[in-house]
Amino acid sequence: MNLILFGPPGAGKGTQADILIKKYNIVQISTGDMLREEVKLGTQLGKAAKSIMEKGNLVSDQIIISMIKKRIIKPDCKNGFILDGFPRTLQQAIDLDNILGKLNIYIDKVIEISVDEDILLKRITKRALESKITRDDDNSKILNNRIVVYKKDTLPVLKYYKNLNKLYSIDGMQSVERVSKDIQKILTWL
Ligand code: ADP
Repeated sequence: MNLILFGPPGAGKGTQADILIKKYNIVQISTGDMLREEVKLGTQLGKAAKSIMEKGNLVSDQIIISMIKKRIIKPDCKNGFILDGFPRTLQQAIDLDNILGKLNIYIDKVIEISVDEDILLKRITKRALESKITRDDDNSKILNNRIVVYKKDTLPVLKYYKNLNKLYSIDGMQSVERVSKDIQKILTWL
């Protein structure tokens, strides 16, 4: 089972991915987490990504794709994976298809978790207040930019998967349990 979890910042992708990886014994691949790890380790890649992330802008497709290429061939991906926060641009989606095609792997479904903008802002502000690990990009000014970037660069990706008949949208403003049930309903049709 190879999935993409799609949605704006604060939609709850990480929370839902956590539930799914346990239930289906698959791995989560979060480009955001991978980048934050590089920043923490102080690698060259991390140094290049840090200031871009802090502004809420997108790291270059080239960097992201090279990270994904290495990750996706690891043996733990054999049983399936959930992509979280990737692809975020049309180019990334096209490159992903090329990479997977060569490996004879396919994306089964793309699940969009949709949440209204005012609720996103409230959720992320709350996350910033409660979280022990503060993220530099979880403040309202940067969040606004992340939402602008999402609409401009990332929303076109939805259309791409819609045209491929792979897109399923669910209401992300319900409880965590309800959202999870809705996702699992979609997955049982696989
Ligand atoms: P969230 O899910 O809260 O939107 P992420 O953890 O997925 O945030 O990403 C945090 C930041 O990392 C993004 O704002 C961006 O700068 C960078 N990033 C993560 N994934 C990608 C990607 N696929 N392409 C470009 N930049 C990315």
